[in-house]
Amino acid sequence: MRIAFHGAARNVTGSCHLLECRNKRILIDCGLYQGNREMDEENRHDFGFDPASIDYLLLTHGHLDHCGRIPLLSRLGFKGTILTTAATRELARLVLLDSARLQEEEARYRNYKASKRRDRGEAVEPLYDTLDALNSLNAFADIASFAQPHELCPGIRATFHDAGHILGSACILVEMEEGGRQHRVLFSGDLGCEGRAILPDPARPPHADTVVMESTYGDRLHKSLKPSIEEFYLAINTTVARGGNVLVPSFALERTQELLYYLREGLEQGRLPNHLQVYLDSPMAISATQVFRRHRECFDAETWAVVASGRDPFDFPGLNIVRDVSESMTLKQMRGAVIIAGSGMCTGGRIRHHLRHNLWRREASVVFVGYAAEGTLARQIIEGAEVVRVLHEEVEVNAEIHTIGGFSAHADQRELLDWHALTGNPERTFLVHGEEAAMQALADQLTGTTVAMPRLHESFVL
Ligand code: ZN
Repeated sequence: MRIAFHGAARNVTGSCHLLECRNKRILIDCGLYQGNREMDEENRHDFGFDPASIDYLLLTHGHLDHCGRIPLLSRLGFKGTILTTAATRELARLVLLDSARLQEEEARYRNYKASKRRDRGEAVEPLYDTLDALNSLNAFADIASFAQPHELCPGIRATFHDAGHILGSACILVEMEEGGRQHRVLFSGDLGCEGRAILPDPARPPHADTVVMESTYGDRLHKSLKPSIEEFYLAINTTVARGGNVLVPSFALERTQELLYYLREGLEQGRLPNHLQVYLDSPMAISATQVFRRHRECFDAETWAVVASGRDPFDFPGLNIVRDVSESMTLKQMRGAVIIAGSGMCTGGRIRHHLRHNLWRREASVVFVGYAAEGTLARQIIEGAEVVRVLHEEVEVNAEIHTIGGFSAHADQRELLDWHALTGNPERTFLVHGEEAAMQALADQLTGTTVAMPRLHESFVL
């Protein structure tokens, strides 16, 4: 029995881990590297194993850094089965088709640039295309339900447990038996926070001999959620009262649905103006919200109560769905409205048009509700840039800027330690999916286990 780490090794993206037992090869996640040019290039490197040799891929959740290289795996010969929850399968479908389109666009753009330079070098091929994404979708199969063991083959079983991170997300326990020896490996996937809207708290983890745990926020504690919701309502109330628009750059999966949930609650409780107009201007977020509606089995008790009373958790009077680009363009006439659009870090998408038409207005505001990586437009605005470049134009930043930090989808240090304490003193704990400093801080706090921080392609006997 062996385990190898082919991604998210001292890094937060590209999750990909390989188990070997009884001549079977089982991959856990197959994520895309994201962040900058260097990381993009990393996606074109060898996987570290032959995709054709993989029997099973167990997918923890539908975020791109966990599923984004699946079409490439499929293009390079993977013929196995991808096992995951029904909700993750549907979200992954959206995410992978969108990613294929972006890969195609990026290749076209780079080739166009090269042709303008009269560069006669080799044309850039997309990492994968729409057909690769569609082909890979054929390999998906749903698990029956959480906490129910699924036999992959004699001697190897996988059980998914609710991770409370995004819709359908799971921790996965793999139980292996070889030569009369048993070994239980638990993969945390990405772990959610306690007390969030829509999803239940992460499920109690089973005991394991080896734990592979994420460490994104291994070195910090989160701000609490309640003051963040208050801050969100206050930003809307004050901006709308002075006739400005509230722009919310948002991530399409989970964060947008959480915002819709809180907007509905705020309106129902009379804490937001009852004539409030909200525009959801992101085709991806609109489709993702439909997937949420189809997967009520993933909801927590509060969201179930909303559904049971005949209400839609993600809908309210004054919510406008904007699919067409032409309709999106007309929003520049709007005053005193809330506009939710992607992308969350303002690196692409429709939010950039809205920023161009609103950033210079003193009465407007921009509310950041998620992580902004270094070098992104979101980060420049958050860090107080007075002028930014948006769609080839210099725009003054006069709008009020809010950064709301309490909407995290990842467990913080205390929650990670609490979760780990329930896994029953595993012999070994591998930390993945974190920057080195965060990993080290978490490693220093873990007791009753041997901690390792594997390097890329490093492998261990279990
Ligand atoms: Zn995630």
